[in-house]
Amino acid sequence: PQALARLGTSSINVFVVVVVSCCTEQLSGYCVFVLQKDSAQAVTIAVSSRAIFDLEEEHELFLAEGMGNYTSHQIAHENEPLAEGTALPFIRVSAPKAMVNEKLLENNPEEKQLFDIILVSNNNAQSGLRIINSIKHYGLHITRFCFLNGIDPSKYLQSYNVKLFLSANESAVCSALKRGIPAALVIQQDVQTAAEQLRVVFDGDCVLFSDESENVYREKGLDEVIKYEKDREHIPIGEGPLKAFAMILGNMKKKFPREKDPICTYLLTSRSGRDMGVRAIKTLRDWGLEVDQAFFLDGAPKDPILAQIRPHIFFDDSTHHIRGALASGTPAGYIPPCDKS
Ligand SMILES: [Mg+2]
Repeated sequence: PQALARLGTSSINVFVVVVVSCCTEQLSGYCVFVLQKDSAQAVTIAVSSRAIFDLEEEHELFLAEGMGNYTSHQIAHENEPLAEGTALPFIRVSAPKAMVNEKLLENNPEEKQLFDIILVSNNNAQSGLRIINSIKHYGLHITRFCFLNGIDPSKYLQSYNVKLFLSANESAVCSALKRGIPAALVIQQDVQTAAEQLRVVFDGDCVLFSDESENVYREKGLDEVIKYEKDREHIPIGEGPLKAFAMILGNMKKKFPREKDPICTYLLTSRSGRDMGVRAIKTLRDWGLEVDQAFFLDGAPKDPILAQIRPHIFFDDSTHHIRGALASGTPAGYIPPCDKS
């Protein structure tokens, strides 16, 4: 209760603070959030504390010495801001009062489809104060926090209508993906991103698209998958785990003339444009999803293109391409195979 009182006080500047017990097993996880003007239409992104801050040393301490010593360390250092994590640039431009929301409101003061951010943390409320202080240090307008003390966040993500979940915990990411929530694993790294727009890059198969063609390729080889695609050119490919989030960005983009668009989206696929591009393009057309640029690389490396784009996040299901992205300083969201692993 003492921790809740302190957290409530820190968030009480807007509307009504609601405190919800987030665990049935034990009374140790809590969500503190602020009622939004229009939460039904908000594009809510949930991020873990390790996705937006560099907590690697602290995580090692937690693994080696347990929650007690970890919490004591975080309390002792709670006024020292954490270093930037991989997903911080993405959150910095998409948080409330940040660039994209400001442009949406400039375009339409009545706009309801605005980004909102929930911080979902494995910390308990006591160790979470350092996270809150770091959020303030970076000037992020994040007001909703869940300190779950190790509890799986996925069921809460569903209740909050979360449209994207970024986390450094693979089992939490898989749990969200299995509930149909777009989610990706973020690995700590130093990153460089473009400043002027929100740039998001999507891989094709197993990310925007389902794994149907990838499975044919794995089981029967390249010649067979080319034939498979040719035979089905008029049938849209199934939906992949990030399709719903890409559609949201696509709908936001439609509100702006191209020269004023604060969001730029890319398809960056290993497919050959000649042999496997037609069905991919027809699928995007069928969905009504326009991307600004599409690259069909026919197996060539992705990192030289990523180094030019400097996206805020790049989603891919291939560890090979994720490693290339990490090497080029690109913030990467890995879509793990989950039930196949
Ligand atoms: Mg792929």
